[in-house]
Amino acid sequence: MLTLRLAADPAGIARAAALLRAGALVAFPTETVYGLGANAQDPTAVARVYAAKGRPADNPLIVHVAGADAIDEWAVANARARALARRFWPGPLTLVLPGRGLFGAPTLALRMPSQDAALALIAAAGRPIAAPSANRSGRPSPTSAQAVYEEMQGRIEAVIEGPLAEVGIESTVLDLTHERAQVLRPGGISSAEIAQALGEEVGAAQGSARSPGTRYRHYAPEVEVVLLDDGEPAAAVERALSARPGSWYIGLADTAPPGAKGLLAGDLAALQQALYATLVAAERSRAPVVAVLPPPSPAAAGVRDRMVRAAGGEMRTVPSREEG
Ligand code: AMP
Ligand code: MG
Repeated sequence: MLTLRLAADPAGIARAAALLRAGALVAFPTETVYGLGANAQDPTAVARVYAAKGRPADNPLIVHVAGADAIDEWAVANARARALARRFWPGPLTLVLPGRGLFGAPTLALRMPSQDAALALIAAAGRPIAAPSANRSGRPSPTSAQAVYEEMQGRIEAVIEGPLAEVGIESTVLDLTHERAQVLRPGGISSAEIAQALGEEVGAAQGSARSPGTRYRHYAPEVEVVLLDDGEPAAAVERALSARPGSWYIGLADTAPPGAKGLLAGDLAALQQALYATLVAAERSRAPVVAVLPPPSPAAAGVRDRMVRAAGGEMRTVPSREEG
């Protein structure tokens, strides 16, 4: 299959919308990461999303909509859902609600993205669009059209060539089907922001209560990723990197050891935006090790989660030179 590269202009979007209506798979930019879209009302197209990604069948897809009214159309909304949609949509917050039959599942995850081309595409398709991240299952999510192309070329009908994804990690997934709102996956919107908007505490799911997809190994490049402990003194980070010459560092610039290469981000937003692309770049350049250091702030929960997963799910302490 030839994968078309479509411009993010009216002609490209019209073409992409027609493809989606005909059952094709179209990757498109969103503000979080690039999505792999399919008509959510077409079970054959949805099944092809799973096949193209190699995604486990029990990991459900987020349905993308072009307006908050769609909450009542596809889900059983409640006051909290409407309040959160008013406050955070369009944006990187996914709401899990009781469904109304899409996918035949009892619950449905819904999001309205803020990226212009994404909104135009969903509106032009005139259908809810199921869209996971446009990567093969288990790999870092693509934040650029080029990264989608390299990852999914020959497996999907088209990719819309939009700008770099602004947020850089996936949406926050919030479960509103229980009495207490619960974050199933940390992401672009922090728990504190959600709690403030709701005027109530928000829980964080652990272990089996997490979003089904978060059980799997995720966001992992084919390079050894070592997670450095929080607040590690610069000397310890430096020791960890110098133990393996050619290592890369991903973290904030002010905690980077002197001479480190990789991603030395000026702030959390910059770190979040470039995290996945840097992991893939490190893999390409065959770095022996990528040392990742999550910032300690609660706002960095999403970045921390992705770093832990990229490292294989465990926190490791900084290895000393003696341990190698
Ligand atoms: P991705 O499509 O790769 O961005 O991942 C989508 C995330 O949303 C995964 O963690 C899914 O498990 C989660 N998700 C989608 N639908 C639901 C649902 N009905 N209930 C709980 N989590 C969901
Ligand atoms: Mg994904």
